[in-house]
Amino acid sequence: MQKEHLEADVVVTGGGLAGVCAGLAAARNGASVVLIQDRPVLGGNTSSEISVHAGGADFDGNRPHARESGIIEELRLEDAVHDPRCVPVMWDLTLYDAVRREPRITLLLNTSVTGVRMAAPGRIAQVEAIRPSTQHAFTIGGDMFLDCTGDGWLGYFAGADYRMGREARQEHGEPHALGPDNFTLGASLCFIARDVGEPREFFPPPWAKRFLTCDALPHRHPDLCRTGFWWNELGGVFDMTRDTERVRDELVATLLGLWDHIKNHCPQCRDLARTWELEWFGWVPGKRETRRLLGDHILTELDLVEARPFEDAVAHGGWPIDLHPPWGIYDREPPALMLPLEDIYSIPLRALYSRNVENLLFAGRCASATHVAFGSTRLAATGAAMGQAAGTAAAMAAFRGCTPREIADRHIRELQEILLRQDQYIPDLAAQDEGDMARKAQISASSEAEGCEAASVANGLTRHRRGRTNQWASGEGQPLPQWLELRWPQPRAVGEIHLTFDTGFARPLTHSQYPSTLKKQVRGPQPETVKDFRIEAWLDGSWRAVARITGNYQRKRVLKLGHLLATEAMRIVVEATQGDPQARIYEVRVYG
Ligand SMILES: Cc1cc2nc3c(=O)[nH]c(=O)nc-3n(C[C@H](O)[C@H](O)[C@H](O)COP(=O)(O)OP(=O)(O)OC[C@H]3O[C@@H](n4cnc5c(N)ncnc54)[C@H](O)[C@@H]3O)c2cc1C
Repeated sequence: MQKEHLEADVVVTGGGLAGVCAGLAAARNGASVVLIQDRPVLGGNTSSEISVHAGGADFDGNRPHARESGIIEELRLEDAVHDPRCVPVMWDLTLYDAVRREPRITLLLNTSVTGVRMAAPGRIAQVEAIRPSTQHAFTIGGDMFLDCTGDGWLGYFAGADYRMGREARQEHGEPHALGPDNFTLGASLCFIARDVGEPREFFPPPWAKRFLTCDALPHRHPDLCRTGFWWNELGGVFDMTRDTERVRDELVATLLGLWDHIKNHCPQCRDLARTWELEWFGWVPGKRETRRLLGDHILTELDLVEARPFEDAVAHGGWPIDLHPPWGIYDREPPALMLPLEDIYSIPLRALYSRNVENLLFAGRCASATHVAFGSTRLAATGAAMGQAAGTAAAMAAFRGCTPREIADRHIRELQEILLRQDQYIPDLAAQDEGDMARKAQISASSEAEGCEAASVANGLTRHRRGRTNQWASGEGQPLPQWLELRWPQPRAVGEIHLTFDTGFARPLTHSQYPSTLKKQVRGPQPETVKDFRIEAWLDGSWRAVARITGNYQRKRVLKLGHLLATEAMRIVVEATQGDPQARIYEVRVYG
């Protein structure tokens, strides 16, 4: 093996959606990052290898205006514009492209983290990793380390406290806890099928499972569909950190057995399926639950159900608590129990760092939650939001030379302000950034729609919530261009303008193979978004354009003027939208 040593401020292990967002967040906040992913593509369960779609707090559009913002929204918008058909490998490309554009990230693909070297008990000095394809053995030193492996491998190597399995009801007072035992949610293999318009036969291999009658699949009758079946699930009674290979073999057998049932045996599907064929199926089992690393706080069912507020809230979730029976496809129980949540809930920073390894943070499947709470926190976009929070906290801790716990205890408001400025959503927390000059401005507009006043753009909130739109919208029936004006009693030195646009949070948006989810989406720029706009400044007695953007489709835009401009008034003039007749802006921030 060829030995190589790397150093970074922040080392991120695991390149699923949580790891990608953590790496991007840490790098964008100034940290050098090494991102280590054991497979050839980024995205984890959401990659083309597994093809799970990234759902989250908006419950696939059933909870409007709850979608995650920040980095995951930026990625989804890029994907919707460049990949209108949702071609699976294009999502891999969206993630790879975002990482590759970031000069502070060193990406190690096909590289597996295999161990750690500790500086002292409870403090990681380096991770060890190998890349078999090139026979490289890496050591990677850093200040802060993130475990986004889903399986909690880094935490395990470092001796971090973790749980695997279901808690007892009395342990955290959780009504739906069924343990104590070692059962987890299982892993699945899914397929994509298509109608080719001419007859196709299917010959199952002899080792495929035989589901000859519909009764062989209680509560799980397969329908003829393009994408199936998340409930082709096994492994809940095994240890999916060690038993993955044999569970994969069994899952391939059940998957082909299900397709055999549809094609050759099912009286309801057989005729319709005559012209259908399998187009793709996964070989990498999509894992749901393995190790959950333990933080200073463990999120519980009641935290979610009661939407408990946390002083150190840094992210949010909102998918129902979605629990599966341990025997998966062979279980006699229905494949999922969905416990609805009335509202979205907050995720505290204390659930994103280890309680006994001082420089270890985590996000996604590894986050600190009970089995029941994990039923909701495991959603891919919820993990992405956690990743942004944990990555940002890691960069902050690395620069301050402090621990994530100290960030939670002493610097949480500062972290929250950074996150809000970078478009992370924290439930009901309004930004109060003293450096933002928009907060001191008198704000007016060329026209206003009812309930969408101009002043909303500086109220610190950036989405519809609790009956308020929190956005400026130009008057109905008023033709574009429309403008929004910020005026100060004295001239201000302006260098940077932040704008947050509307990207249609009333609808879902995510890369998906499910026709039912795709049907609700706009694949392309979102119509509500401001497309062409200019910034004008009041200079020497007249309005002068100082910046102009065309073709925008992103929600958050940061315009750097390149120099400081002394002005007592600025206008954002909306010239065109991506389709909506009204101009819409959630937030304007102005910095020196
Ligand atoms: C079949 C199925 C259906 C699902 N349906 C949905 C759904 O509809 N919507 C939704 O939002 N969520 C769904 N989920 C859950 C969701 O996919 C996951 O919880 C989420 O993707 C987890 O993201 P993550 O980044 O934490 O982990 P992962 O996606 O597991 O990514 C972790 C990455 O780390 C890598 N890794 C592991 N060990 C190492 C190591 N030692 N060194 C380097 N890299 C390593 C892994 O290869 C992996 O790529 C589903 C899951 C499954 C399996």
